[in-house]
Amino acid sequence: MDKKTSVSPEAGTAIKKLKEAGYEAYLTGGCVRDLLMGRVPSDWDITTSALPEETKEVFEKAGYRTFDTGIKHGTVSVLFGREILEITTFRTEAAYSDGRHPDSVTFVRSALEDVKRRDFTMNALLLNPEEGIIDYVGGQADIEAGIIRSVGDPEKRFSEDALRIMRAVRFASQLGFRVEEATSKAVLSCKESLSLVSAERLQAELDKMLLGPNIYETLMTYGSVLAVFLPELKPMFGFPQHNPHHMYDVWEHTAVAVKNIPPERILRLTMLLHDSGKPHSVKVRPNGTWSFAGHPEVSAALSEEALKRLRYPNHTVETLTMLILQHDVDLGSSIAEVRRHMNRLGKENYRRLLLIRRADVMAQSEYMREEKLALLDQQTVLYKEIASQNQPYRIQDLKVNGKDLMEIGIPEGPMVGQVLQALLEAVIEEEIPNQKSALLEKARSMK
Ligand code: ATP
Ligand code: MG
Repeated sequence: MDKKTSVSPEAGTAIKKLKEAGYEAYLTGGCVRDLLMGRVPSDWDITTSALPEETKEVFEKAGYRTFDTGIKHGTVSVLFGREILEITTFRTEAAYSDGRHPDSVTFVRSALEDVKRRDFTMNALLLNPEEGIIDYVGGQADIEAGIIRSVGDPEKRFSEDALRIMRAVRFASQLGFRVEEATSKAVLSCKESLSLVSAERLQAELDKMLLGPNIYETLMTYGSVLAVFLPELKPMFGFPQHNPHHMYDVWEHTAVAVKNIPPERILRLTMLLHDSGKPHSVKVRPNGTWSFAGHPEVSAALSEEALKRLRYPNHTVETLTMLILQHDVDLGSSIAEVRRHMNRLGKENYRRLLLIRRADVMAQSEYMREEKLALLDQQTVLYKEIASQNQPYRIQDLKVNGKDLMEIGIPEGPMVGQVLQALLEAVIEEEIPNQKSALLEKARSMK
């Protein structure tokens, strides 16, 4: 393990303290997997034989603050400087009949029992400085071979908690691992039970899956799993396009487009849903090719429903719906047009649409691709020029404001806004420079 992937000093201290008090303690779960893979862990989970009250006593005695947030399930959070470590008692759990929480957990004193409740072998390793890696389930070999394998019988494990189905799919995308055959079969045969799982848990896994580098392969193999909680995707599978701009069916085009866009949550979700309206918008042209005119409106409406159902925050739903609605619009070819679009959409959304258009084009056929990319390059240069030089494209960028206008005798009321709008137009068109004297002179001429 190199330096950047060594155990966090806080986690090391916590394990030492528990062991000094006579308990067993290990790092476990994602952090051990990530350390073995040379990835930087996102959090440090510790598992221990100490009961929650005993864990609290160990750390409170040593002067640390603890929090009871997850104590019912055996988790005590301990504050180490600015880091919070989650320390969970070895436990077994009953099924998740509501798809949200285990019906009950039982604390046990055996690490092996705790290992058996974990989802995949790669997530079931134990590590501490004295004993090194403890591997009861062959997790190390599976990590080396890049395999996602259920701990125990996959169907049984998926029936206890269906979210594990989506976690297998998420890890396939995130780690580029292959799902072992029996586990993969169970992913597909048990997928309908995902309908029991809460929107919040599904959303978290969907987001992580979409950001993964192996997203194209994962969408192509496990699209039907997502369709259990995103039925909007189903009509896209295998839907032909019969159009010279396209060489893939709607779903494969979608999978390529998702892969082509940088891994930002909003962008990847936009690409996932941007063409969901296509199967509902087909028109056959007289020459036999298909047109999908109007599909962005249908995609936006379907996506809004889907995202609300998955409980995405309102502002995320609004932004995504807007980006999907706009994904096919021409983004301008002169500096004035680009400024107008930036004014209408906002700078950040204009940037996003440039990336969306590019990912979309790169997932189409090669017909006219060079022309499409040349236009995008031109728009990108203009956008960067405006953004990096802080060129004016909004009323608040003007070097005059309403007060300045009233001082030269423009009456308070709607006229002020109209004049500001006209001044912005003149500046966008480069008829006048964005300088106070020039703006006031123009304003006087409009009185
Ligand atoms: P990440 O790197 O995204 O945090 P992770 O594997 O650490 O991935 P967590 O959700 O942090 O995922 O869970 C920590 C550990 O808890 C997992 O590695 C696994 O051992 C166990 N675990 C989490 N969710 C489940 C589940 N639904 N069923 C069984 N074990 C689970
Ligand atoms: Mg984790």
